[in-house]
Amino acid sequence: MRQYKTISVQKQEVAKIYCNGCGKLIPKDQHGNFEEVLHIQKEWGYLSKRDGEIHIIDLCQSCYEKWINTFPISPVINKNKK
Ligand SMILES: [Zn+2]
Repeated sequence: MRQYKTISVQKQEVAKIYCNGCGKLIPKDQHGNFEEVLHIQKEWGYLSKRDGEIHIIDLCQSCYEKWINTFPISPVINKNKK
C-alpha cells in the first residue's frame, strides 16, 4: 500500500518572447496566447563549425517574411487540410 502526500512542484513557462530579428516583444492575445512566431532550436553536430552548440531563435512574422524573401529558393508551403 502506498500513501501519498501533496507536494508543490515548480515549473517554468514562457513569460516573454522577444524577436531575435528586430527585438520586438511578441504580444499576447486576450487569452494569453503569444502571437505566432517561428521558433527554431538547432543543435549543431559533429560535421559543423559549431559542434556542440545549441542555437535558439524566435522570429516575429514580419522578420520571417523579410528573411524568406532573401532566399533564392522559397520555402515549400503546404496547407493544412482542416
Ligand atoms: Zn521581428
